[in-house]
Amino acid sequence: MYPCLNVNIGHLKENVRLVRELCEAHSIQITGITKCVCGSEVIAQAFVDAGIHMLGDARIANLKKLKHVSAEKWLIRPPMLCEVEETVLWADVSVNSEIEVIRALNQAARTAKKCHKVILMADLGDIREGFTDYQELLRAAKETEELPFVELYGIGTNLTCFSFIQPDPEKMKKLEEIGKEIEQLLQRKLKIVSGGNSANIDLMLHGGIPKGVNALRLGESLLFGRERANYTYLPGSRQDVFTLDCQIIELKEKPSLPWGNVGKDSYGNSPRFVDRGEKRLKAICALGRQDFDMETSRPVDPGIIMLGASSDHLMLDVTDSKNRYALGDVVTLQLGYFSTMRAYTSSYVEKRIIG
Ligand SMILES: *Cc1c(COP(=O)(O)O)cnc(C)c1O
Repeated sequence: MYPCLNVNIGHLKENVRLVRELCEAHSIQITGITKCVCGSEVIAQAFVDAGIHMLGDARIANLKKLKHVSAEKWLIRPPMLCEVEETVLWADVSVNSEIEVIRALNQAARTAKKCHKVILMADLGDIREGFTDYQELLRAAKETEELPFVELYGIGTNLTCFSFIQPDPEKMKKLEEIGKEIEQLLQRKLKIVSGGNSANIDLMLHGGIPKGVNALRLGESLLFGRERANYTYLPGSRQDVFTLDCQIIELKEKPSLPWGNVGKDSYGNSPRFVDRGEKRLKAICALGRQDFDMETSRPVDPGIIMLGASSDHLMLDVTDSKNRYALGDVVTLQLGYFSTMRAYTSSYVEKRIIG
């Protein structure tokens, strides 16, 4: 059935091995992030098969799906107060930025007769999660250390996710320095100093990550072989791990420009159209914004122009293609991060493992 998301597991493992070897050369441990693929067990297992020992996701519901995958599980979004019990149940580790939540985790861990590991997040400029007052972070480290059912596992930071502030050598040095201050305060080593996400790969390759930073949380680079700083594909990576097949449900010659009085689109903007002439061959595919993201997808056939999509129709101009399309034919899209996330989240999209 269509639409169908194809996942090339062989190519995925090649990407994971490639990135893992690059990280190993810089003494960086990887936590493989599965939120883009809704905590898919198959993908998580592929990460593990390719040498990853730690897995992370932003949602407990996804971590639950990884019950049978043997790896350390991280909740990489600070827990909601209403999910601390679930957090200690399904995650070995969580990232945190509020001492009140850590106290609640300690209570929940006591009840569950477990020990939960805590990573304290420092905000180094992206203005998303984390302490901006590093003295407050130090106090939180001290208190966490004293709580009996939580273990201070380490510290971390996250950049390039909200404000798109890039990691740089100064910021990584700052994180290393905070780590050292905590180690002095507690008179012991921290196991994890997690420097960021796929946006750190380029910096790492250029030697910009100091020794005191020993881990990264990676999603996009493992799944798509792409680093996030310059948004380039890593040499030797596979770019076709995720492809989406959709079927043509209407194929007709139509003008390139609409006719009548034009109104506003769903975002309140006035749509614009390019005049390509009176007679263009237009295909409609049974796929919509509920199932994919147009901005992070591109047709594998270079002759196809993506004109736009509504919730459940994708409009294509196939006039310039070398292929002779017919009604019922399948068009394949190569997916990027957001599109893959939508396709995974959509229950209307069939998921198929290939390769
Ligand atoms: C999503 C996320 C990641 C992974 O980011 P990628 O760019 O996919 O590597 C890492 N850390 C945190 C806290 C995240 O939310």
